Order: sequence, then structure tokens, then C-alpha cells
Amino acid sequence: MPSAETPVSRALAERLVAAHFGVCGADLTVSGYPIRDLAQQFGTPLYIYDARIMRRIFHELRSALEEFADIHFSIKANPNPEVARVFVREGAGIEIASAGEYRAARQAGAEPARILFAGPGKRDEEIDFVVREGIGEIHLESMEEIRRVADAGTRLARTVPVAIRVNPVAAAQGGAMRMGGAASPFGFDEEDIDAVLARVLAEPALDLRGVHMFAGTQILDADTLLAQWWHGLDVAARIAAAIGRPLQTIDLGGGLGIPYHAGDRTLDLDAVRAALPSLVARQKSEPAIRDARVIVEPGRFLCGPAGLYVVRVNTAKTSRGKRFLVTDGGMHHHLAASGNLGQVIKRDYPLVAPARMDAGTDEPCSVVGPLCTPLDTLARNAQLPPLAAGDLIAVLQSGAYGLTASPTRFLSHPLPAEILVDADAAIPLRAIAQS
Ligand SMILES: *Cc1c(COP(=O)(O)O)cnc(C)c1O
Repeated sequence: MPSAETPVSRALAERLVAAHFGVCGADLTVSGYPIRDLAQQFGTPLYIYDARIMRRIFHELRSALEEFADIHFSIKANPNPEVARVFVREGAGIEIASAGEYRAARQAGAEPARILFAGPGKRDEEIDFVVREGIGEIHLESMEEIRRVADAGTRLARTVPVAIRVNPVAAAQGGAMRMGGAASPFGFDEEDIDAVLARVLAEPALDLRGVHMFAGTQILDADTLLAQWWHGLDVAARIAAAIGRPLQTIDLGGGLGIPYHAGDRTLDLDAVRAALPSLVARQKSEPAIRDARVIVEPGRFLCGPAGLYVVRVNTAKTSRGKRFLVTDGGMHHHLAASGNLGQVIKRDYPLVAPARMDAGTDEPCSVVGPLCTPLDTLARNAQLPPLAAGDLIAVLQSGAYGLTASPTRFLSHPLPAEILVDADAAIPLRAIAQS
């Protein structure tokens, strides 16, 4: 087993603990609450989300984007309404991709006008539902969908606010910009936009308000992100020119990344901030997009660092010289940490032993879950204190694409509890699991 990356991934865990959490004696704390106590009170496995961390990240991003863009939270990153509510209260809109997410957004307190509906396969019932209830924009992704949304508007006697989702010729791929965009089920190819515009403008039930682009996730390089945004403004200007009137919205998508693995950097918000005056100047120089509301819709970036997945060691054992810690949680709750959610290379998430923070000796080990499959591995090359049955392990960076992106029915284990810690609220600790 290669162990070269281990000290670095430990360094990432230490950096994240220093940035977001506290340490008191042997205990890792979340807004002052020891994980050990939370695990005792709520049981394990346990997802813990800290509202203060979410608010701090939201404010940092909003201050970096000031004068340029409005923020919508992409609710698929964490559809728990209590998590979304934290951002809604701070002024965020919500980006959804299903009727279920629409309900979660409303439950979180979002106004219909602040909700954007994307997704390549919206069903008729979903379209009818959001048109009846009210929606900020539906993002059109195919010719078929133009017809469906127009029919819904006609049937329900409403004019439906829409934007066109564009699959750009320049896309972020693996953290780098690539010209000649890939084939994609999402949106319309930029090359075909003229025909799409003609089709949308021919529908009296559709009010074409804007353009939407989202071409890459987990971007850690500020220049890549900015190049994508710059291209988005160009596309918006061309669309406005083609339709002969100004656009009201330009949605530049999400994709802001967070560090998960050894060697990952942190997205440099200062570099983003420093480049924004030139983007703002670009927008203001073009009358047809000058007054448009620019939107970004991050998911992972806003809630990922605020979440921990806490498991308890059930069994410690050794096989042919390799140490295994078998825990009560695993890929059925946290597929992404197991490396099976689309990762090309399986690399470990940052882990800590949250009740043994003062333990010095490191022990190389593999952390696995209770499922009967070798896929159920939470870390392959962890470096933890010598742990035994009953000890706790916390997976950091687990607030986004955690429980929601996991095969919870696989092997019929119970769901984990989810709790919100909000030291600034009247009820600082609450179970918020949907089940
Ligand atoms: C998933 C998604 C997002 C959020 O992506 P992140 O990488 O979590 O920021 C934003 N917009 C759309 C349309 C999405 O599908």
C-alpha cells in the first residue's frame, strides 16, 4: 500500500480542524460541543452540520462576489430543509432539480420567485406543479422540454419565466478549461442556440428571461472558474443581441470546489475577488446584459465543510499485517467518502479520531463499514491513533453529497441521525433527519 500521501492527508485534516472546529483536551468540538457528547446523545452513525460554519462560508462568498453575483444554494448538495434554511435566512435563493427539492426549498422558507428549476428530464407533473405554485425560472434543456413547459403554461393560463441552459463550447474538465465542449445531456449546445431561441420566442406562454450555464464541478482553480464565468457573459451578450432585447438573468452555475484529498488546494476567494472588477466592467460595457442579475449556484462549497460523518468502531482486527477498523457506518451513508461516487481514483477523505485528538502515536489502518463488500471502505490509508471497539472516527468535509448521494437501502442498515448544531439559535442542538 502506498503511504506517501498519508502525512499530507493528515495535514489536510489538521488544516480543516484549525479552520472550522475546536479542540479541547482530547475532544474535537463543533461550536463548542464535543463530538463525543453528541455521539453519546444522538447515537452513531451520525451526521453533524454546523450552522455557524455554513453562515461564515456564505458571508465569505457573498463578500467576495459583492457587486457581481447573487447566490442560490444548490439544494441537491444537501436537501435537508434545515440546512437550506440556514442559507435562505441569510438571503440565498435555491436551485432545484425536482419537485421534491421544490418542496424542500419551500419548507426551508424560500419564496417561489427565488427558486430556479434545472434538470434534463423534468416530468409533466413536476412542471405543472411548479408553474401552479410559482417559480423564479425554469431552465429549459431540450426542444421537447420547450414544448412541455409551453403546454403547461397554456393549460394553466400562466406565462412561465424561463432561461435557456447552454452547454458551452468551453468547459471546465478536471480543473482545467477545455475548448470544444463535450457532448452532454444538459442544456443546448452553444452552436445550436439560434434555432433554440427562435423556438422559445415563438411560444407566447414562455417569458425568456435569461441564460444558464454550468459545465464543471469541484473546481479548485480560481482562473478556471473565472474563465468559465467570462465565457458565460460572452454567451449571454450574444443571446441578448440575437433576441434584440436585454436579459434579466445570467446564471453562471455552481462548481466551486473544496479540498478533499492530500494535495488539494483551497479555492482562492481573494483571487476570485480580485478578478471581479474586470468581469463587472465587461458586463456593464454591454447594454443588453448591463442590468441582468448575475447568479452563482454553489452546493458543495457552501455546506461541504460544515458537515461531519461520525462513526463508532465496532471491531479492530488485523489481516496479514494490515490493520482494519470496522465501523458502524459506511458507504450506505457516505458513498462519496468510499470513493464510489464517480471518483476516478479512490483517495481518502480527511479523518480524525474526535475523542482522541491528543493521542500522539499514529497507526496506519484501513477504515471499513459493515457491508459485505470490499467497496465499503471509508479510508484505505488512514493514519489514526491506535483505536479499539467503541472509539469514534469522524469523516470531515461531509456536509455535501453525503447521505443524499448514498445507497441507503443497500444491506438494510438503519439510517443515521442528522443533527444541526447552531450555537447562535434558541435551540442549539436538534435532530433534523427527514426519515
Ligand atoms: C449540482 C448542480 C449545482 C451544484 O454543483 P456544486 O458542484 O455542488 O457547486 C449547481 N447547478 C446545477 C444545475 C447543478 O446540477
